[in-house]
Amino acid sequence: MGLIKHKLAYFFFLFLSAFFNIHQTANAADSPHVDLYVTYEEKAGKVVVHATTFLTTSAPKFVLSNVVTLTNVEIGNNAVIYEASDSYLIALKEGQNSAPIVLTYSISLPASKKTDGSTDHNGGADWSGDQTGAFIPGNRIWYPLFQEPSTAKITIKTRSHLHAVAPGHETGSEDTNGYRVSTFEMPQPILGIDLMIGQWLVSEKQFQGITGRIILRTYFDENNNPLSEEYLALSERYIKYYEELIGPYPYTSFAVVSSPFPTGLGMPSLTYISEKILKYPFIKNRSLPHEIVHNWLGNGIRASYESGNWSEGLTTYLADYWQTELKSQSAAKDMRYGWLRNYASVAREDEQSLSSFSSRHHTASSAIGYGKGAMFFHMLRTVLGKPAFISCIKDFWGSFQFKSASYSTIRDTCQKYTNADLNLFFEAWVPTLGAPTISVVKTPRMPDNRQLLLTQNGSWVYNLEIEYASLKSESETITIPLENKLTEVNFLENSKGVAQVQIDPNYNVWRNLYSEEIVPTIRDFIVAKEPIYKQLGSNVINGQKLISEYFLENEIQKKSHKASDLSERLESIHLGDISKIRDHLLLSTQASDQRFLTAMSNADFLIASLSHMKGKTLFIGVSPKIDEEMLFMLLSRARHYGKYSWLTISSSGQTFSGKWSRGKKLFELSASGRKN
Ligand SMILES: [Zn+2]
Repeated sequence: MGLIKHKLAYFFFLFLSAFFNIHQTANAADSPHVDLYVTYEEKAGKVVVHATTFLTTSAPKFVLSNVVTLTNVEIGNNAVIYEASDSYLIALKEGQNSAPIVLTYSISLPASKKTDGSTDHNGGADWSGDQTGAFIPGNRIWYPLFQEPSTAKITIKTRSHLHAVAPGHETGSEDTNGYRVSTFEMPQPILGIDLMIGQWLVSEKQFQGITGRIILRTYFDENNNPLSEEYLALSERYIKYYEELIGPYPYTSFAVVSSPFPTGLGMPSLTYISEKILKYPFIKNRSLPHEIVHNWLGNGIRASYESGNWSEGLTTYLADYWQTELKSQSAAKDMRYGWLRNYASVAREDEQSLSSFSSRHHTASSAIGYGKGAMFFHMLRTVLGKPAFISCIKDFWGSFQFKSASYSTIRDTCQKYTNADLNLFFEAWVPTLGAPTISVVKTPRMPDNRQLLLTQNGSWVYNLEIEYASLKSESETITIPLENKLTEVNFLENSKGVAQVQIDPNYNVWRNLYSEEIVPTIRDFIVAKEPIYKQLGSNVINGQKLISEYFLENEIQKKSHKASDLSERLESIHLGDISKIRDHLLLSTQASDQRFLTAMSNADFLIASLSHMKGKTLFIGVSPKIDEEMLFMLLSRARHYGKYSWLTISSSGQTFSGKWSRGKKLFELSASGRKN
């Protein structure tokens, strides 16, 4: 999802892949089923689970973490239990057809470590429990986990001051003798159930969906409780919107649950979001619709991971992007530019194809799985046209809900709505690395610029927008379909010929940005593979060490580069006294932004990222007031400003940041001279 991490899902997937060769083709009729009765003993931070299930020849084995303490095992004579290094494996004996299984076990949950979240790099939420609540993620294999998704029924008993939440339909909740007993049913197969218990205030709203009533709930901590009405209204609005766009919402409820952990997770019919960030607009406008759309795409139709997880790209496109586009075309253009800009900072060796993307686990994979994935669907929409694209999405949902699907399923569904060869289109983008680099030259045959030759570095397939200005400076835009390395473009109706061309001016194509279009950012240096360092003189002695330890992901290169590397674009970091850095920046045309110049004049610490012919340079200026201890704090803080081009901080703590403006790449073709 947008800013919420899906790390748990990724490690969970790796774990399961090690066990089984996953294929998610189950449907409810032949899925295994688990019945769980869970009692939470909050004083001891312990859960007791009574699990009932059934092994059959189509679901002959399951695993259960061996962290659990088994107190009762009834597996009969037809099954056998093994203990592996980190789990129990319970399997049907050879030659047997079925075995009923009953297990009772307890799990002692570690005390929660509720950090402030700002420094957490591990996704945050692992299992834990105390008097105020518990979190038990499915990736901890806390209940019988089959090779394929299973249906489930969970009954959870807690003290009545606590609430339990699980995915699926809540079919009962009863308060008796100081205890609350809640029941959740998952009639659609699910892989890994997360269980949440907490001391929430619960708000509820119901509305009529396309096929039935939908119950919305918020489970919020006291601080966030005033936001509950807004969240219920937004959830209703988004669900109604996506019912129209995609099809009937597949569950009977949707819940937003506040999490004490610095992360967020989405699961069928609910989302678990850090209580620290619920108040922010990007959660309401991007993360919430993103998690809601996953109920159709990702949870409703599962991505078959072995041929690429399409669900993050399509969800990002239909949620984060679509909602932005509804509000503002220019914000949508900025988002598309952002995907290309992120891609521009992915090192070639870190790049993967859409077909090898499973889940986000570092910046490079998110640039592909989310950014390229979303742009892929944007280009598909351009090829199909918006009405046909929407028809395809509705058809995809109607035909594949609660099944698994791959890119080729989407291709075949959309092919019904277009004459364009989608096989070519999907082959060009899904299994491939890289992106088009496009250039424009005159054709020798027509020196009057009424026909131009477009070249690209591969057989990429897309519709390309070309903005051109005639010799009389009239500008116009045309769109042409591209699929070859060389394409002739005719401008015959423009009898005056073309003087200047801009390619894809609105960033509608997954392509390599031209260097003029790349706004340098601070992040370029944080993630630089082989940054080099130069100290320009200041009272800071250990600048290089501090920058290496607190600012960069990779080590500063010990010696300057070999001669052969000079053709590469270098990233160098220059640290020096702020007055010298200021003098230098005043000469730069890139750093001529008025806000920056004003902020710079009062700053005691400044960072500015600039690009030039030989690469990029990050200037770090420190005033004599800043000692090494302060510099380490400022550098750690600067890491949070990665998306900006510059940052200034004064000794009073006043902070300003901003981006340089985006440049344009113009192909000048008027060498033969303008007539007037
Ligand atoms: Zn997502």
